[in-house]
Amino acid sequence: MISLGEFRIGRAVEHEGPFVRPEDFFPDWDPAVLEESRDWIGPVMDPASGQMILSFHAFVLRTARHTVVVDTCLGNDKERPLRPVGHQRKGDFLATLAAAGARPEEVDFVMCTHLHWDHVGWNTRLADGRWVPTFPNARYVMARREYEHMDALHARGDKRMHASAFVDSVQPIVRAERALLVDDDYQLEDGVWLEAMSGVSRRRFVEQHADTGNLVMPAHFCAPSAGRIVDRTKAFGFVSV
Ligand SMILES: [Zn+2]
Repeated sequence: MISLGEFRIGRAVEHEGPFVRPEDFFPDWDPAVLEESRDWIGPVMDPASGQMILSFHAFVLRTARHTVVVDTCLGNDKERPLRPVGHQRKGDFLATLAAAGARPEEVDFVMCTHLHWDHVGWNTRLADGRWVPTFPNARYVMARREYEHMDALHARGDKRMHASAFVDSVQPIVRAERALLVDDDYQLEDGVWLEAMSGVSRRRFVEQHADTGNLVMPAHFCAPSAGRIVDRTKAFGFVSV
């Protein structure tokens, strides 16, 4: 549990392990960069498989007013045949989440950072053959622009993984009238707001926070998933805390 002023932040991990080869993930991947960074980058690679180690986790943010879950990871019972880690899972993530400070009925907001399959899975759970909201009292915050994009993909018959996640983990939330479709600069309360991230703005984010000591808690970074960005001249580094 991390304390930031009046906020408390817990982390709930659903899965951590080798996931994807960097050359399959980054279009301009250059192995020399990893080699040059080897003495400080830490254990991000699995030597046996050559894959990057990824964490799939949620953050539980408790403010004075709200309990917020940021991202809902993989989910149980979802059909993800192309991603074994997420395919027909039978896990106990809700117990992990409760231990991190959020039982389903206590959650006021679910913030979906984006609508990819590995960030919306526990939005819903299977009950009597239907997908129902896992967090019965929560409003689910989603970017309106992204929702409309995914909706259009689905309408065109797209059957890829993000589109199937849209069907089983996003549409049921909208149909249950639990979705809060928001603008890119939505503010949930003082100190909790969204910023849109594209390639350019992500770069700006890293530059803006490097060497400031600001705490950054990213998706997919392995335990403890919290650290500070440092400028290493030829690259940016991440120092875990
Ligand atoms: Zn992801």
